[in-house]
Amino acid sequence: MEIITGKGKVLIMIEQGLKKYFGFHKFKTGQKKVISNIVDCQSAAAIFPTGAGKSLCYQLSAMFLPHMTLVVSPLLALMKDQIDFLLRHDISAARLDSTLSKDEYNQILEKARNGNLKILMIAVERFKNERFRAQLKRMNISLMVVDEAHCISEWGHNFRPDYLKLPAYKKEFGIPQVLLLTATATRRVINDMCHKFEVPRNNVMVTGFYRNNLYLQVSPTPESEKKERLLQRLNESPKAPTVVYVTLQKTAEHVAEFLSNNDICAYPYHAGMADEKREEIQNKFMAGEIDCVVATIAFGMGIDKKNIRRVIHYDLPKSIENYSQEIGRSGRDGRSSFCEVLANRDKITVLENFIYGDTPEKQAINKLLKIIISYNKPVWEIKYTTLSYELDIRLLPLKTLLVYLEMEGIIHHKYTRFEEYMFKYHIEPLEIVNKFKGERRTFVKEIFNNCHTKRIWTYLNMQNILKSYELVERERVIAALEYFSEKGWIELQSKQAIEGYDILKSDFNPHLLGEKIYRLFETKEKKEIERIHNMIDFFESSSCISRKLAQYFDEDIKKDECGHCSFCRTGPAVIEHTIQLPPLETYNYNKLTDEFIKAAGINCNPLDIVKFLCGISSPILVKLKAKQLEHFGILEKYPFLMVKKWVNEANNE
Ligand code: ADP
Ligand code: MG
Repeated sequence: MEIITGKGKVLIMIEQGLKKYFGFHKFKTGQKKVISNIVDCQSAAAIFPTGAGKSLCYQLSAMFLPHMTLVVSPLLALMKDQIDFLLRHDISAARLDSTLSKDEYNQILEKARNGNLKILMIAVERFKNERFRAQLKRMNISLMVVDEAHCISEWGHNFRPDYLKLPAYKKEFGIPQVLLLTATATRRVINDMCHKFEVPRNNVMVTGFYRNNLYLQVSPTPESEKKERLLQRLNESPKAPTVVYVTLQKTAEHVAEFLSNNDICAYPYHAGMADEKREEIQNKFMAGEIDCVVATIAFGMGIDKKNIRRVIHYDLPKSIENYSQEIGRSGRDGRSSFCEVLANRDKITVLENFIYGDTPEKQAINKLLKIIISYNKPVWEIKYTTLSYELDIRLLPLKTLLVYLEMEGIIHHKYTRFEEYMFKYHIEPLEIVNKFKGERRTFVKEIFNNCHTKRIWTYLNMQNILKSYELVERERVIAALEYFSEKGWIELQSKQAIEGYDILKSDFNPHLLGEKIYRLFETKEKKEIERIHNMIDFFESSSCISRKLAQYFDEDIKKDECGHCSFCRTGPAVIEHTIQLPPLETYNYNKLTDEFIKAAGINCNPLDIVKFLCGISSPILVKLKAKQLEHFGILEKYPFLMVKKWVNEANNE
C-alpha cells in the first residue's frame, strides 16, 4: 500500500474513493472529517442523526485500511441493509449470525482469516462465544466500529451491559483503531464513551440535529383533555401523514379506536400485535393508504417515509434522546412539519417507579456473591431466568450485575450452550437413518431412539443418548442435528440457554464488594431519575427549544432563537400535575394488600408489597401472578418512595 502523507492527499484520495466505490459525488456534512481521521490511523466518533450517513463513514474508510473492519452492533437485523448495500457495490462484506449453516459460517471465518473480507459484522453477543474469540485472535483487524455506541454509557438512554466489555476486547484482539457511531449522545455520553475507548476529543464530529423545517410545540394538556385535543389537531388536516406516539400498547389501541370512531383513518402499531398485521399497517402507511398510526416506540426503526407531516407525543417520550429520534422522522423531504407534545406531570411517577423497580436489593447482591464464593465446580453454569427468580432481580439488571462482576475480575463469561433441543421432521426419521451406513447409521438411529414426539415437536433426550451410546459426546449429537437441519430434513430449535462462567476469584470480602456493587446500581438509578427530570426541564425550557435540543447533543446552531418553536412564538410552557391524588392515609392498607399477602405466603417481603401496589413487576410477582390480583398497580401514580414509607409504617405498627 502507498504510504500516505499530508492531509490534502488524504482528502483527495477519499473524495475519489467516494465516487469510485459508491458513486456518490459529495460528502454529507461531517463525513469527510470522520473518514479522514480514520484513514489517518486515528480513532474517531460520528454523532449524526439517523439517515445522515454514519454507516458510510466506516464503509468508505474500510477501503483504505490495510486489514479488516469489524462492525459491532446491538442488533444484527439492522445490518441487513448495510450488507446489501456493500454487496451491491462489490465490497466483500459478511455478517455472522445464527441463521448461517456451519459451512457458510466457516467459509466466512476462513475468508476473514485469509484477509479476503473487508468488512465483518457481528452482534455484540458474538463475543461471548469462546470459539469465535479464538478465531478473532487469528485475524488481522484494522478497525473496530461500534454501532449505537451510546449503549456503553450508563449516562445514555439505552445502556447495554455487554458494551462495557468492548474496550477490553479491542485491546485483547489488538485492534488499533475504533470508530464510534451513534444518533443520540449527549455531551456527557460523548465524554464517557470517548474516555472508555480512548478517542481524542478533537476527533468527535457532531452534526445535523438542528432541523429548520420542524415546528416544535409543547402544549400543556390536562390528562382528561388529551383525546379531544388530539382529535382537534388532526382535524386541522385529517389526511396529513401523522404518527402519534404513546407509551403503552393498550393506549395505542384505545386512541386509535377513538380516532377512527371520529373519522380519522388511524390504526394502532405496537410490539404486542401479530407480525403480519404490524407489517401490513406499516406498508399501508408508507404507501399513503393510512393517514395516521398510533404507535409505541416499536414504530420507527428502519422506517423511511419522507413526507410525515406531524409527530404528536400523546404521552411524554421516554427521554430527550427518544424525543429527538421520534420527531426526526417527520419532514424528511425538507418540507415543514409539525411536532407536538401533549404534556403534563401525571405519569412521571409511573416512569420513575420502573427505574426504582430495577435496582436490586442489597441482600440479593450479597446472596449472589455467596453463591459464587461457595461454588466449587470448575465452571459455574446458570440460567439467567432461574437466577433472576432465585434472586428476585429482573433480567436486565441481573445481566448488568454479572457484567459488573466481570469488570471486577470475579467471573468471566465462557460460553452459552443450550439445554433443550427440539425439531420437526420434514421427512420420515427412517428415511434419514437410511442415508447413513455403518457406525454412523447406528449413531443416527440411537439419536432418534432417544427422542420423543409430542404433537408437533420432537424432543431430544441428551442425557439418555450420552448414557446409552458410549462413543458419543454432546458436540457430536448437536453437530448431527445441525447437519440434518442444514439438509432440510428437520427444522431445529434450541431453547433454555445455559451460561457458563469461570470463577476467577472467590477470596473476596462479600460485604465490601456487595457494598461497592450496590453503590454502582444506586448511581445508575440516580442518573436515570435525573434524566426524566431533565426532560421535563427541557420541555419547560426558558429559551429556544430547537437550540436547547441541539445543545443537548453538543451541536451549536449559531443563533439564539429559531423562530419555529413554541418558546420562540409564545414563551415557556408550564407542565403541571392535572390529577389530584388523595393522600395515602385515605386508603385502607389491609384491604389493598390482603389478597397479595395471602398469595405470597409467609415469605412476603415488604418491598414486594410496595412493588405490587406500584404496579412494578418482578420475577417473584410474576410467579405469584400478581398482575391478576385486584389491587395490582392501584397506587401506580404515587411515588415509589412514598409508598415504601407507607408500607413500612403499616408493617411496624
Ligand atoms: P445512518 O447510518 O446515519 O443512519 P446511512 O449511512 O445509512 O445513515 O446513510 C443513509 C443513506 O444516505 C444511505 O442510503 C446512504 O447510502 C446514503 N448516503 C450516505 N452518504 C452519502 C453521500 N455522501 N452521498 C449520497 N448519499 C449518501
Ligand atoms: Mg445507520
